[in-house]
Amino acid sequence: MAERKKVLVLGAGYAGLQTVAKLQKQLSEEDAQITLINKNDYHYEATWLHEASAGTLNYEDVLYPIASVLKKHVKFVKAEVTKIDRNAKKVETTNGIFDFDILVVGLGFESETFGIEGMKEHAFQIENVNTARQISRHIEDKFANYAASKTKDNKDLAILVGGAGFTGVEFLGELTDRIPELANKYGVDQSKVKITCVEAAPKMLPMFSDELVNHAVSYLEERGVEFKVGTPIVAANEKGFVVKVDDKEQQLEANTVVWAAGVRGSHLMEKSFEGVKRGRIVTKQDLTIDGYDDIFVIGDVSAFIPEGADRPLPTTAQLAMQQGEKTATNIKHILKGEPTENFTYADRGTVCSLGRHDGVGVVFGREITGKKAAFMKRVVDTRAVFKIGGLGLAYKKGKF
Ligand code: FAD
Ligand code: NAD
Repeated sequence: MAERKKVLVLGAGYAGLQTVAKLQKQLSEEDAQITLINKNDYHYEATWLHEASAGTLNYEDVLYPIASVLKKHVKFVKAEVTKIDRNAKKVETTNGIFDFDILVVGLGFESETFGIEGMKEHAFQIENVNTARQISRHIEDKFANYAASKTKDNKDLAILVGGAGFTGVEFLGELTDRIPELANKYGVDQSKVKITCVEAAPKMLPMFSDELVNHAVSYLEERGVEFKVGTPIVAANEKGFVVKVDDKEQQLEANTVVWAAGVRGSHLMEKSFEGVKRGRIVTKQDLTIDGYDDIFVIGDVSAFIPEGADRPLPTTAQLAMQQGEKTATNIKHILKGEPTENFTYADRGTVCSLGRHDGVGVVFGREITGKKAAFMKRVVDTRAVFKIGGLGLAYKKGKF
């Protein structure tokens, strides 16, 4: 019998886990040896991290054990990948060295601070379950501190959010749900709470029409959020953000400071491949990389430029999952000695939630706002868990 090929998948996020979910259905134990490596033994829904960060969702509700969605013939290894040697076909981890015939790299995103002074040290980042948990605890601690102290430092009730992209806006939406709960719990006058969002660009969410953006801004402003647009953050320190207004620096102060102004691919990408920018490598149309027909790079560590386009698609979970599915199909082709297929992205739309009850979005080309958008967001969130773990997981973790 020919030796079974070794398929190694790095990262159990949307990209890696979707690859394995489909691979395990279409390949038997005899077809290939499939190994999945991830630094935690759980998968987390990264698209729900703004909820866990605000505390509107418990951090435990955002995750589930990876083993619970794997079939017996897939080997799972809990380890942190430390080095990918693409030429020797080996991956070094904190739990041993693994060789491969076919590699799938799905190591995902990290927060990008663009080298802004003090940002890593002084601001929280919405990056993973642990950072989300820290942020929600910190916000609650500040309310508790304010309620218990005699001197009443108003900065305990001030929250600064850097960036009004999708992550920033969705986090603000959750805060507008969470703050009334916290004010009530700690007997704090809600009018004293100050939430300020600082955005460098003159317009937020530029991919949406003015109507959608205005809806989002009005909804959040009515619930106490103040926006400072066209205001770049140039530094962070123990007091808060330093911003630039009319070429002059200004200090904004708060005891909770959250940077939600951008992501990059895993730092391991620069260490492992050439031509990587911000942790992302441009892939070929079949999602492998130049010179390596047996290495697939998908999800937030990849830059996929559709044929005829001049820019990569934005990195999203929707894209990562579709890439995972195509990668599983292509791995099957390779194992059978068949040519691989090109990836095409099916854009089903984008929904930006504004807390649990509102949102804005474009779905199948139609603009939606309000409760309809909030409902669609729950559909999208539930679909993501259904696609990996079927009805059972959707029942346990879904949003209905
Ligand atoms: P990830 O989800 O980052 O998964 C990577 C996995 O690899 C993780 O399990 C990680 O622990 C593991 N890993 C990382 N490094 C190592 C290592 N060295 N060794 C071992 N394991 C490692 N996109 C949408 O389409 N819709 C949304 O509504 C949406 N909402 C979002 C909300 C927030 C708050 C954020 C931050 C992002 C949102 N996104 C959304 C973007 C989306 O989350 C990402 O595009 C998506 O997570 C990318 O999937 P991925 O599998 O490439 O990476
Ligand atoms: P982003 O890059 O889309 O937005 C970051 C925002 O921060 C931008 O508006 C940018 O102008 C601003 N910014 C950057 N530097 C700044 C500075 N120095 N001072 C002030 N503002 C600054 O990042 P994101 O929102 O984290 O999104 C990352 C990816 O995840 C995107 O591809 C996005 O589409 C996806 N995502 C999607 C959803 C959704 O579909 N609902 C939700 C969250 C994230």
